[in-house]
Amino acid sequence: MTDVIIELKGVQRYYLQGERKLNILNGADFALRRGEMVALVAPSGTGKSTLLHTAGLLERPNAGDVILGGRACGRLSDDQRTAIRRNDIGFVYQFHHLLPEFSALENIMMPQLIRGLSRPEAAKRAEQLLDYMQIGKRAQHRPAELSGGEQQRVAIARAVANAPLVLLADEPTGNLDPTTASYVFDALEALVRQSGLAALIATHNHELAARMDRRVTLSEGKVVPL
Ligand code: ADP
Ligand code: MG
Repeated sequence: MTDVIIELKGVQRYYLQGERKLNILNGADFALRRGEMVALVAPSGTGKSTLLHTAGLLERPNAGDVILGGRACGRLSDDQRTAIRRNDIGFVYQFHHLLPEFSALENIMMPQLIRGLSRPEAAKRAEQLLDYMQIGKRAQHRPAELSGGEQQRVAIARAVANAPLVLLADEPTGNLDPTTASYVFDALEALVRQSGLAALIATHNHELAARMDRRVTLSEGKVVPL
């Protein structure tokens, strides 16, 4: 029995620019354990998003593999990867990517409905998450009627709506002022701690990084402790 939730093994990711090969991830190894909250801190352009997208099965590595809950995902079909993404991975972006036509509540219900839950079940869980994120009063508001911090709280609630194994967040507070960022991170941290989720969070904010269990960076395409 292992408590490793997600593991990157020798992950290679490159882009071809004409004749040139740009190695972004170059044999990256990384393991995230149950209940662990890890900060990914590295300058722009070093491959943080590439690493998170690869870990989140949004991109395939050119070599190496991603092992999620003990299951190697590299050679699975697109449909299988989509199913795993839907159930086991929560993703938060720098910009909320909420559906503008739907309320906060509906946005959090959506992934649950896609998964096959009934509307009352999905609504109940969405309400609980909104309360937990301290924006229960905003349930019926559309994204445009919410502040930046509230939008990110909804995006975080949506990401965990299906109780994933892992939460991957790509500069989730990067678009917020420092005070709002701190409050949103408080809520994110409480949620992760309470649920025992594993979380890998890219951030430029050293104060927030310092609050996580450990910090890693990218160096020459590899994940190294910071
Ligand atoms: P970060 O998130 O740390 O800013 P990224 O993972 O977004 O870094 O990008 C890492 C590098 O890969 C950058 O130099 C970027 O320009 C390059 N890159 C990202 N996506 C592509 C792509 N689709 N084609 C070519 N180069 C890319
Ligand atoms: Mg990025």
